[in-house]
Amino acid sequence: MKIAFFSTQPYDKAFFERENKNKKFTYQFFTAPLDSHIVHAVDPVDAVCVFVNDKVTREVVEVLASKGVKIIALRCAGFNNVDLDAAKAFGLAVCRVPAYSPEAVAEHAVAMLLTLNRKTHKAYNRVREQNFALQGLLGFNLHGRTVGVVGTGKIGKAFARIMLGFGCKVLAYDLYEDRELIDLGITYVSSDVLYDRSDIISLHCPLTPDNMHMIDKTALDKMKEGVMLLNTSRGGLIDTVAAIDALKSKRIGGLAIDVYEQEEKIFFKDLSDTIIEDDILQRLMSFPNVLITAHQAFFTDEALTQIARVTLENIECLLQNKPLNKDAAL
Ligand code: NAD
Repeated sequence: MKIAFFSTQPYDKAFFERENKNKKFTYQFFTAPLDSHIVHAVDPVDAVCVFVNDKVTREVVEVLASKGVKIIALRCAGFNNVDLDAAKAFGLAVCRVPAYSPEAVAEHAVAMLLTLNRKTHKAYNRVREQNFALQGLLGFNLHGRTVGVVGTGKIGKAFARIMLGFGCKVLAYDLYEDRELIDLGITYVSSDVLYDRSDIISLHCPLTPDNMHMIDKTALDKMKEGVMLLNTSRGGLIDTVAAIDALKSKRIGGLAIDVYEQEEKIFFKDLSDTIIEDDILQRLMSFPNVLITAHQAFFTDEALTQIARVTLENIECLLQNKPLNKDAAL
């Protein structure tokens, strides 16, 4: 079984090699993302394995189909970067890893919240410079605060549970209510009520054509003055220009993002020697109350092991016409 990997990082190679001890699979690794140019370099393979920023457009799908590729295997949960209609039309199966470690992402969201609130990133640098002053490091207690969780699927649920453990009141907005969360004391409200009442808002819903820029000026205007906004889901959920205006007007008191709408040209690369041309990202990075990580919320040993294992299982099942695990087929 032959697989071509795109956007390959050293850790992808390491974890996928580790899960292929019996050499059932043959790998071809590309560091470049899959796009309409590199797709022409794909050798005859059974599957292409892609990540969050590979652009699997109709054009790409058509070339893959012409080369006899049968499967587009996402080594992630989100699939907004794949044209599913085109895949169906050209007869390619699409699979993903629906739940590799919801805790990995939820815990990273909490890490970002604690860092941004208690400014441990600044304290770390200060102390190393022998600056032991506290001025400028003031935070607030999470205990007793209201946290709004948008999207209470696997990750949102894990995040909500952790917040309950901190002694927060948790509000949730989702298209479907989760009985287990209601039993734990979480209250489902409309998005407007969630925006109005939450001190902290964390986004955990997928990006779909319907909710692109769901956090726009209108939504931000409904939020509490000084709200702390977290996004570990997908960059396109937030209208970044509107968020910058809201940071300037102090409507947003803190913004922590692990995802950014224009991230595909920037994230997962070492650009320390180059000039970043994205002025919006540069403006974001200039705020003292903005914390950015480069799509690393999933990045734990447990998650990478599970991603490699499930991706290979998905490909094997599809090639052998066996049913996939729940939610893995798209
Ligand atoms: P999930 O499918 O288990 O849950 C998503 C939830 O969002 C569902 O309950 C769904 O009903 C709800 N939802 C859908 N549209 C909504 C909307 N418009 N408003 C409110 N709720 C809505 O997914 P999950 O595993 O919890 O993952 C959530 C998202 O996290 C993924 O789609 C992906 O984009 C992102 N993610 C990020 C990373 C990272 O490393 N930063 C890693 C994994 C996943």
